Amino acid sequence: MIRIKNVSKYFGKKAALKNVNLEIADGETLAIIGGSGSGKSTLLRLMIGLIKPTEGEIWIDDDEISQMDEDEITSIRLKMGMVFQYSALFDSMSVGDNVAFGLVEHTDFSKEKIREIVREKLKQVGLEGVENLMPNELSGGMKKRVSLARAIAFGPEIIFYDEPSSGLDPVTTNKIDELIISTQRALKVTSVVVTHDMISACRIANRIAMVYNGELIAIDTVENFKKIEDVRVKEFLRGIV
Ligand code: ADP
Ligand code: MG
Repeated sequence: MIRIKNVSKYFGKKAALKNVNLEIADGETLAIIGGSGSGKSTLLRLMIGLIKPTEGEIWIDDDEISQMDEDEITSIRLKMGMVFQYSALFDSMSVGDNVAFGLVEHTDFSKEKIREIVREKLKQVGLEGVENLMPNELSGGMKKRVSLARAIAFGPEIIFYDEPSSGLDPVTTNKIDELIISTQRALKVTSVVVTHDMISACRIANRIAMVYNGELIAIDTVENFKKIEDVRVKEFLRGIV
């Protein structure tokens, strides 16, 4: 579903990513872990086509997106749903309008049909009857749910999450993890989840990839990942296995 070949990304002279190679299979959930500033979000933003690599290729299905112009990328992006770190809801729009946003922009569905889809997607993430609330009336966990409802509104093939549980308490983090798992099962999507939370990563993922100082230093199934001998991996795992 996603193939990253020899990708490097420089910001000025600084290498945020160095020669990364990575393949993510259809229907897989991959967690990308690593410390702050290691390059996780940069890797995610490259896959979404928000930024372009300095070197290398990025394939989504049969399309190499790194050379595409903005229009072409927009059409690829309709296959993707994104849940960002701070939910990134539009504060001046109701919850319903937030979830409807992409449908209004990119389809000619009737108002009734859009309203029906919004209701159904909110229900899928465990929220009902909140369409008329404003984002600032919601808890952090609810905002994440709304953000996920918006991400799945279009029926994406891939869902990208950037630190979906940052700033949430452990109980809410658990619930968001469960929601990521149930969404994956219900929709059979490919999921890429950036997190610095190793416990979350083990719970939700099929495989874990670790980025360290811009390099992809380890990738394996959850079980095997826990047995990796690299000190940088062990340091990250300390206290949880
Ligand atoms: P992470 O998500 O793992 O915390 P990032 O991918 O956000 O890390 O950042 C990796 C490195 O690239 C950091 O050193 C960061 O400062 C740098 N970086 C990220 N985005 C930019 C940017 N737009 N301009 C300059 N430097 C950036
Ligand atoms: Mg980040």
